[in-house]
Amino acid sequence: MAVLFILPGNSCNRNKMQTFRETRVSLYTIVTITVYSESGQKAKAAIDATYAELDRLGKLLNFYTEDSEVSMINRFSGIKPVKVSKDTLDVIDRALYISRITDGAFDVTIGPIVKLWDFEKKILPGDKEIKEKLYLVNYRNVVVDKANSTVFLRKKGMQIDLGGIEKGYAAERAAEVLKKNGITAGIIAVGGEVRPFGTKPDGGPWRVGIKNPHQKDKNDEIIAIVDLAGQAISTSGGYEKFFIRDGKWYHHILDPATGYPAYECQSVSIIAKRAPDGFPTGIFVLGPKKGLKILKKLGLEGIIIDKSGEILTTEGIKDKLEIVH
Ligand code: ADP
Ligand code: MG
Repeated sequence: MAVLFILPGNSCNRNKMQTFRETRVSLYTIVTITVYSESGQKAKAAIDATYAELDRLGKLLNFYTEDSEVSMINRFSGIKPVKVSKDTLDVIDRALYISRITDGAFDVTIGPIVKLWDFEKKILPGDKEIKEKLYLVNYRNVVVDKANSTVFLRKKGMQIDLGGIEKGYAAERAAEVLKKNGITAGIIAVGGEVRPFGTKPDGGPWRVGIKNPHQKDKNDEIIAIVDLAGQAISTSGGYEKFFIRDGKWYHHILDPATGYPAYECQSVSIIAKRAPDGFPTGIFVLGPKKGLKILKKLGLEGIIIDKSGEILTTEGIKDKLEIVH
């Protein structure tokens, strides 16, 4: 689901660079690839190769399909370590790093809780059901053996879900594939991950819009625009997947401590050299105060829209941000 919108840049005729853009569904989300190229043929070949790679990653990492490597790890929880590809191992390793650094506010083992909720079918799990599964959520019980390329979940019934982090990994990979195919500049959006690379033909910054989270029915209104240079931006919003029951709003960013949605933020965007997917989810759960503290410590920039609608930012991003609403 696209959290951010790319503002189309001017294609520059001066050096015959043209803009090519394609949107497809991959990794169960909307992926838009925009490239600048002097050749349509070259652009198409690069874009096709990128979607093929994203589809391949999606097959390895998917939480819901039986034959993914993630499902295999989950199936053998409490039983034995499972041998996986380097990609799966790398994403899990990154997920564990973010789990540690957010002190479990992002927790890659949230799978059993995620499966209780269904935001499309509007399924609100029972309190007892949630409490019964919470003991399975603990990233410290994931054992990664890099030498043997295996992953083991210590408790039977544990499940890892990479849904909060795989899009960033995919966006980084997409940039690599495009570059390998001769593309020198472009911008990739994998759901809420926006990853520009290279220099825009007009020489200007990459301008990325942040959605207004208050507009739950008008989902494409922009609240702010950020200028990026050599950075990626990742956004998690409580307006992406949600339902309302008895006047209460339930969404897909869950607090691993309670098994229920987190309510301190409405939207969190993080800016970093590489797609910081996972961090926004963790910071969303931690809330603005603790979140801003962690961002400062890590030297990351962020834009948080808190529960009251106030826009809070780190210092370094203030002059790169234009509030439009
Ligand atoms: P989106 O999928 O819309 O990009 P996020 O990046 O915030 O949104 O990821 C949310 C997804 O991450 C959920 O759909 C779920 O699969 C998983 N998730 C939810 N809460 C957590 C959490 N606290 N820690 C880790 N993963 C989570
Ligand atoms: Mg995410």
